[in-house]
Amino acid sequence: MTRTVYVNGEYLPETEAKVSIFDRGFLMADGVYEVTSVLGGKLVDFDGHAVRLERSLGELDMGSPISKEDLLDVHRELVRVNEIEEGMVYLQITRGAPDDRDFVFPDPDTTPQTVVLFTQNKPGLADSPAAKKGMKVISIEDIRWGRRDIKTVQLLYPSMGKMMAKKAGADDAWMTQDGFVTEGTSNNAYIVKGNKIITRALSNDILHGITRAAVLRFAQEAQMEVEERNFTIEEAREADEAFITSASTFVMPVVEIDGATLGDGTPGRVAPRLREIYLDESIKAAI
Ligand code: PMP
Repeated sequence: MTRTVYVNGEYLPETEAKVSIFDRGFLMADGVYEVTSVLGGKLVDFDGHAVRLERSLGELDMGSPISKEDLLDVHRELVRVNEIEEGMVYLQITRGAPDDRDFVFPDPDTTPQTVVLFTQNKPGLADSPAAKKGMKVISIEDIRWGRRDIKTVQLLYPSMGKMMAKKAGADDAWMTQDGFVTEGTSNNAYIVKGNKIITRALSNDILHGITRAAVLRFAQEAQMEVEERNFTIEEAREADEAFITSASTFVMPVVEIDGATLGDGTPGRVAPRLREIYLDESIKAAI
């Protein structure tokens, strides 16, 4: 099926949607993005994504080309016309397309920002077989830039990390800085020891995951202990459990880290329970 996508105020078939070769997203990765999941045809945590988007734009001295209300309308319209029951809405905003390539930011009065949204249809996203099996991760050095809290489209290294994982027969890579895990290539990373969930504290070193915020809240409500601190790969390899969170994977158990099997090599108790709570609560609150 040809998707209907949104480009700068217009709904178009994906085959007719175009962005300039001078777009700074294309030339300089000068853009930010969000991915909002869809469950039961509704948007999960739209508000959290809209708030983070505002922040990312602000940190890069970009204005907001579209109001939150209009953004919600566009998300909903794309979900409706593309008949998405389970999947994602991808949103990207760049600094626009000036009439030539230049490192200097263009004048926002004469160069409108580019706004693109499209849906990704993923039937079975919530009932994923991967969640039952658990994933394998390898560790790699985190050589990304220092503002990982801004959700920019500079995804080359995370993409390379994913390929390194695939080559090693794993599913993803956890990145480390000064010996401590920062996050996964496209997700936040956690270990579990007993009843305690351990994850790196928020800073410019990691993306402030919208799923992370919700999951930590649910964990505390379920009387689980949460400790926000650094941890090493060595500590992770000896943990009882591990997992990742992101808008498109929700909570996904990790069963192997750099070849070391966690527990009996199947998802433990905490991660599957958190996944269940997260899905239940998210479906209830979706809009
Ligand atoms: N960290 C990184 C590097 C990511 O790319 C993502 C997902 N885009 C996350 C964490 C998870 O964030 P969220 O829960 O908001 O999807």
